[in-house]
Amino acid sequence: MERTVGTGGGLAAAAAAAATATATTPTTPTGARPNSATPRSVEPGHIPSSSAEWQERGAAVAVREVSGEDGNVQIRIIRKGVKDFTFGRVLGEGSYSTVVAATDRQTLREYAIKVLDKRHIIKEKKVKYVNIEKNTLNRLGDHPGIVRLYYTFQDERSLYFVLDLAPNGELFSFVKKLGSLNEECTQYYCAQLLDAVEYMHTHGVIHRDLKPENVLLDSNMRVKVTDFGSAKLLPMPSADELAALAQKRDDDDHRPRRADALEIDESERANSFVGTAEYVSPELLTDKFASKPSDLWAFGCILYQCIAGRPPFKAANEFQTFQKITALNYVFPPGFPAAARDLVKRLLVLDPTKRIQIDDIKRHDFFKGIEFGPALWKRKAPRLQPFNFRQGVGHYVLK
Ligand code: ATP
Repeated sequence: MERTVGTGGGLAAAAAAAATATATTPTTPTGARPNSATPRSVEPGHIPSSSAEWQERGAAVAVREVSGEDGNVQIRIIRKGVKDFTFGRVLGEGSYSTVVAATDRQTLREYAIKVLDKRHIIKEKKVKYVNIEKNTLNRLGDHPGIVRLYYTFQDERSLYFVLDLAPNGELFSFVKKLGSLNEECTQYYCAQLLDAVEYMHTHGVIHRDLKPENVLLDSNMRVKVTDFGSAKLLPMPSADELAALAQKRDDDDHRPRRADALEIDESERANSFVGTAEYVSPELLTDKFASKPSDLWAFGCILYQCIAGRPPFKAANEFQTFQKITALNYVFPPGFPAAARDLVKRLLVLDPTKRIQIDDIKRHDFFKGIEFGPALWKRKAPRLQPFNFRQGVGHYVLK
């Protein structure tokens, strides 16, 4: 048995590039790491001057406990840096990063490594978002529907995030290729997405940029949510609070209070636009705040898009898209199935306090027969098929 027992510390100590490299271990519900080890990092104020020194000091350090057959536990120090991986094909480009497939030379395990250019990040003042992404992924690293962050390290030029590889790419590209997804496929992918969103929310994370491009698919065609650079980290619920939540969820009569569901942090009202135009919630546009229901608005847009093949609010430019969103100006294509239509209508509600909540979404007719929780992640993915709009409604052409 071998397990990483973790190191602490933060990444990318901003402009001085005095970054801390870490091997990450998901936290327990209390926010504590399962075990502790001395974090090893670039000392504050000391910036390595040579490539060799970066190799040494920029590497992630993990402390592993290895249980031998005789039952004795040995401690192993593992260092991971750029030289420990073979870099392969480019998987995607973000605004501030390139994501590359990579293989751990020692274990031959494949990962996706997100490579961020330090100078660019500092110049564009995005250090805060890099840290948010890392801290969020560390908090959420224990759910099958969320990409896991294994190591972070750096060299002179770049920061590296070693992540779960999602070799089947973006859900978006399948929707685009097929034109739409049928109800069975939409139910399967949206149920997994909802399960991942529920996990985020109960762990105090609002994603704030959910869109089909950020819903990736692993080798078994199971959902892996990515891109937490716009996330909002709420205070971590205590173990007792999490246990109480789980208990409440078991109680059929439970209906979460509206104020709890919103959890708006007034100090964090966003003055700038967060997210992607088509999926941004009306409350962000009008009142400049995003809360847990804002993720459910985006979820409603994704559900609609899976079946219709295009997002509900789309116009020639961002301004017109925003106008459509705040006016709730969208239509269902003829033939859009009734249960999905009803659920979308309950999700795309302008007032976030009146929007359907996760417990009720799970009980909605659209998800009839779906068992949420661990069982959901053992189900075989359905064969990808487009929605048949011709069924009973005559010929329908998506614009
Ligand atoms: P954005 O500009 O949208 O904020 P970003 O800079 O945060 O993007 P990501 O969204 O994390 O970058 O990644 C860019 C693209 O790389 C993704 O859309 C996806 O196609 C690909 N990608 C990211 N992570 C992975 C992964 N773990 N496995 C496979 N492909 C990935």
